[in-house]
Amino acid sequence: MSPSHCVLVTGGAGYIGSHTVLQLLLTGYKTVVIDNFDNSCQIAVNRVQELAGDRAVNLIFHQIDIRDKAELKKLFASTKFDAVIHFAGLKAVGESVQKPLMYYDNNVVGTLTLLEVMEAHGCKKIVFSSSATVYGWPKVLPCTEDFPLSAASPYGRTKLMVEDIFRDIYASDSGWKMIMLRYFNPVGAHPSGYIGEDPLGSPNNLMPFIQQVAVGKLPALKVFGTDYSTKDGTGVRDYIHVSDLANGHLAALRKLSDPEIGCEAYNLGTGKGTSVLEMVAAFEKVSGKKIPLVISGRRPGDAEVVYASTAKAERDLNWKAENGIEEMCRDQWNWASKNPYGYQSK
Ligand code: NAD
Ligand code: UDP
Repeated sequence: MSPSHCVLVTGGAGYIGSHTVLQLLLTGYKTVVIDNFDNSCQIAVNRVQELAGDRAVNLIFHQIDIRDKAELKKLFASTKFDAVIHFAGLKAVGESVQKPLMYYDNNVVGTLTLLEVMEAHGCKKIVFSSSATVYGWPKVLPCTEDFPLSAASPYGRTKLMVEDIFRDIYASDSGWKMIMLRYFNPVGAHPSGYIGEDPLGSPNNLMPFIQQVAVGKLPALKVFGTDYSTKDGTGVRDYIHVSDLANGHLAALRKLSDPEIGCEAYNLGTGKGTSVLEMVAAFEKVSGKKIPLVISGRRPGDAEVVYASTAKAERDLNWKAENGIEEMCRDQWNWASKNPYGYQSK
């Protein structure tokens, strides 16, 4: 896959999608984005265009739901795509427990619809947003891609189901090239502070919570559990800068041109574990803001420690995360302080 190629990006207006689309444009790819704006907005697309400068001419946006087969067929009939990067999906673990049908419909049925249309148009190269959640509660660390897979929520099961669907499709037709990227914990924002994460509704993840406390939208951060067997008793995760994650997608796209690639999973993480309290301290340091804490009980379903083995991605994709916790917090704060209300004005 080289920059003259045309890539379809589903969910490209979202957090990780917008950063990846910008990288694609800056590298020279023609990029078609589809999104239904379920958890994003037009302003994000406009800002990516602005950041892309002259390269913005290579971006086309359509407001399409991936479950709308008729619209997808029209799109594939009008444009020849060399590959698809598939981000579109719902991602809130708690909401998936409340509304499993909505999650299975969006994440599983949506992906099936996309795959059917791709196959009908002879487009058989795809990069998919999977998640470290498919490792469940890892018993040993770091997580390697050959670990047994499990899921602890309907959201996690949708990721696992889609991975299984990929493996079945590839087993039936080795003409497909399918890369499943298992993201660890994406945080941070583009260094310009012009695009970043803007979850509609209340946040679910640690960093957006810290951010909302820092800008005064929430009074304190609840720390979910201080009795884990970790360095300071709080949960440990592998946080990865969204710019590194975006670059991981470009590395995966290049890998799709490798005649040897079939259906493969790769971890995208840093290989380093950071506790909740370490993350708070790093954020306080770069922002100069005090983050008040409320010690709360463990969040049901939470794993104690999760971090990635990065060896396979380094070896096969020639990709490695470059940013540390300080850069992640610096860029998160830069985005948050410039956009305290996200993409909307107050
Ligand atoms: P996001 O919500 O910011 O982006 C997802 C985008 O998909 C949104 O713009 C949303 O409007 C769009 N979308 C949702 N359903 C759609 C549909 N049916 N048709 C068209 N567009 C649709 O989330 P994100 O953080 O950028 O995550 C992107 C992908 O990565 C998701 O599949 C998510 O499950 C996965 N992932 C995210 C994380 C994380 O912590 N952010 C971790 C692991 C995996
Ligand atoms: N966490 C927390 N307070 C919050 C949100 C998260 O203490 O308001 C903790 C959570 O228990 C976990 C870590 O932060 O140890 C990362 O949580 P997140 O939901 O961001 O990621 P995930 O658990 O899905 O990996």
